[in-house]
Amino acid sequence: MTALKTALLRQIRAQGPMTVADYMTQCLLHPQHGYYATRDPLGVAGDFTTAPEISQMFGEVLGLLMAQVWLDQGAPAPFTLAELGPGRGTLMADALRATARVPGFHAACTLHLVEASAPLRAAQAERLGAFAPEWHDMADTLPDQPLFLIANEFFDALPIRQFLRQGAGWAERMIGVDGDALAFGLSPPAPLAALAHRLDDTQDGQIVETCAPARPIVAALSARIAAHGGFALIVDYGDWRSRGETLQALRGHRFDDPLAHPGDADLTAHVDFEALALAACPLRATPLTPQGVLLERLGITLRAQALARTLSSPALDQHLAAHRRLTHAREMGHLFKALGLYPADAPAPPGFDA
Ligand code: SAH
Repeated sequence: MTALKTALLRQIRAQGPMTVADYMTQCLLHPQHGYYATRDPLGVAGDFTTAPEISQMFGEVLGLLMAQVWLDQGAPAPFTLAELGPGRGTLMADALRATARVPGFHAACTLHLVEASAPLRAAQAERLGAFAPEWHDMADTLPDQPLFLIANEFFDALPIRQFLRQGAGWAERMIGVDGDALAFGLSPPAPLAALAHRLDDTQDGQIVETCAPARPIVAALSARIAAHGGFALIVDYGDWRSRGETLQALRGHRFDDPLAHPGDADLTAHVDFEALALAACPLRATPLTPQGVLLERLGITLRAQALARTLSSPALDQHLAAHRRLTHAREMGHLFKALGLYPADAPAPPGFDA
């Protein structure tokens, strides 16, 4: 049994069942036993692989998108280039390499990274040290100036609550104890003002998920973009509206029971992009666009062909597989979506559905 599981069993026995959000927070961020507090989870030896770790093209293409939007908004200087949850710093390193020749872009930017994990901060310092990044615990301390921000697979790691529709009320899914195991249960149903609008499009027995911490983060970045200009690009798995139960655990690249190995498995949930767009008011939101469609429109295939000319097998085969994995509808291309947030008086960013 993990040390965290022992601590959670003791806490629940003493204080009663906890919400899924409290459980996720402890599993991911507990200072001694939390998943992100204790390791670098990415890559082949870890538990999961993300798009920037699959191919350099992901960061290159999205970096050039950031630079294009910056140019389209009149190249404001100085500006903040920021990332939420930068992992190993791979995406940002690729974006900065690709944008090195965009006149004025590097000279005008200061790099800011919002990161909770000490091991990952160390990895980011190694990759991005030359750009003298400043780290933040939260988005609300980002500088008050134009902000160009990217977040890939960040919002899916934020804690969610789960509510089961019962008549006109909602029973919250809670985590309690069954013998020596953690087990799901339900709170008594109650009406919930925050889910009043979901009575129209759900039926008895369906689950809706909410992600409270996403709101203040989106509000903080939106306030800067609304006041000074900028762009936020959010890429994650999920859909326009939360539908059904999506809490997922990954351990050693395999699905795991979310209650089996607390602190020792990655926990994520689908992102509700509608909630993010609503929290971004008064910014304008692009149409929610599948990752594969966005990358193709931004020219990833041309980049893939250029790189392919420099490679021979087996590196070439790996490169072609990586291109497919990022873009193909049956791989990450459709499950992952991109949402752009930009000022209402700025040009629409390129690459999104019209
Ligand atoms: N963007 C990276 C990493 C994704 S994993 C990539 O695509 O490879 C999720 C990242 O978000 C990690 O860097 C993790 O440490 C960070 N993170 C998770 N929850 C966080 C929180 N509440 N505050 C700040 N960072 C968080």
